[in-house]
Amino acid sequence: MKKFTDFPYNNILVLGLAKSGTAAAETLLANNKNVIVNDMKASETDEAVIRLKKMGANVIIGSHPISILDGMEMLVKNPGISYDNPIVAEAAKRGIPIITEIELAYHLTSGPIIGITGSNGKTTTTTLVTEMLKESQQPVQVAGNIGIVATEVVHALKDETLVLELSSFQLQGIVKFRPTTAVLLNIFEAHLDYHKTIENYKQAKFNIFRNQTANDYLVYNAEDTLITKEVEQANATLVPFSAHAKMETGAWADENYIYFKNEQVIARQEIVLVGEHNLENMLAAIAAAKLNGATNEGIKKVLTTFSGVRHRLQFIGNKNGRLFYNDSKATNMLATEKALNSFHQPIILLAGGLDRGNEFTDLLPYMKNVKAMVLFGETAEKLKLLGNEAGIETILSAENVKEAAEKAYSISEENDVILLSPACASWDQYRTFEERGDMFVQAVHKLM
Ligand code: ADP
Repeated sequence: MKKFTDFPYNNILVLGLAKSGTAAAETLLANNKNVIVNDMKASETDEAVIRLKKMGANVIIGSHPISILDGMEMLVKNPGISYDNPIVAEAAKRGIPIITEIELAYHLTSGPIIGITGSNGKTTTTTLVTEMLKESQQPVQVAGNIGIVATEVVHALKDETLVLELSSFQLQGIVKFRPTTAVLLNIFEAHLDYHKTIENYKQAKFNIFRNQTANDYLVYNAEDTLITKEVEQANATLVPFSAHAKMETGAWADENYIYFKNEQVIARQEIVLVGEHNLENMLAAIAAAKLNGATNEGIKKVLTTFSGVRHRLQFIGNKNGRLFYNDSKATNMLATEKALNSFHQPIILLAGGLDRGNEFTDLLPYMKNVKAMVLFGETAEKLKLLGNEAGIETILSAENVKEAAEKAYSISEENDVILLSPACASWDQYRTFEERGDMFVQAVHKLM
């Protein structure tokens, strides 16, 4: 395991024993730190608990006694645990630094780090950057919010570029973390239950460039005014991207090409990904990848084949001129808006799911290309009202997304887009949006 060189804390409390907490505790123990691990729900018989105890940790489960903070110099918190948690609140009161495992991972890396954050588009952009570097024969490792614990993978790294997807929750808990390239995609109101105010949420996101120096790069969305105002204060070299205007110092696009500075990178008609939002993700990814040694050939190879991250406006296939897209991750109206805006062809929209009590009238302005709807789940009736209001004649109902795919195909014509973009969470009928999307993809493959 890698050793810390500059981490002058000896008594550390790790709160929350999920995958990231376990990795953090193991790393600290391997560095001879005194570690207390505290988790409400873990059990004495959990493999991780047994292992950590063997390594010397003091594991306290089933309660959060405030007294465990006595003598602690640092708190490593699972990103999901709220700052309202009594122990976290007390640590803050006592001035004990509160970090997430991203900060630990940072102390154990020596190569370049590309950190990527934003309200939306993180996973897509992180995946694109990683693939672009791989296709350019650059050594690279991906981790972070994408589902790979950073503290776990850093031990095996030499000087590979570490590409990190970062949530606001992770970024709120950093002290010295400094990516050599930071990417700031966009900021919408989100997670206000956790961060309380939009200001707190923004500040957590802006942490991504807080410690950067003039030798580092900050890739940012030049069309997002919340961001452009703030980056004036950054020390890093600014690299803007824009889907609307020429950027002499960054990535941009006109109708026909994508450019980095004054160089043509790829013709837009060669690109598989659809959607204006994905154009932004691609521009951000190209900028970050070019700054880290990607070639135009490598970038082209990715953009001419990559059909989207699973369940995010992912192109599934073409059957007799019908194009199938899986956007099961669209669990709210905003995401479905983006999906509907991504096509010029007639759309058969497959939607419905958990009823959160809202109406769907906000979608009305985006329905102009929708020629038919196939509805399922708790919100089917409410969505039908939307369809009626939009003047859509063909509105069918289905038991589930499998039947919805079959019914959609049976009424479709050549050049139609058959789009699963539910605008609702999946929990009324499925365990996860992934399960819902997988059922749709399977049904489509069967049709093919
Ligand atoms: P995240 O990892 O931030 O959740 P994803 O890449 O998984 O983002 O995309 C999730 C959804 O967010 C997409 O299906 C799309 O609806 C929306 N989205 C993606 N990129 C953007 C963007 N740049 N701007 C606005 N919305 C986006």
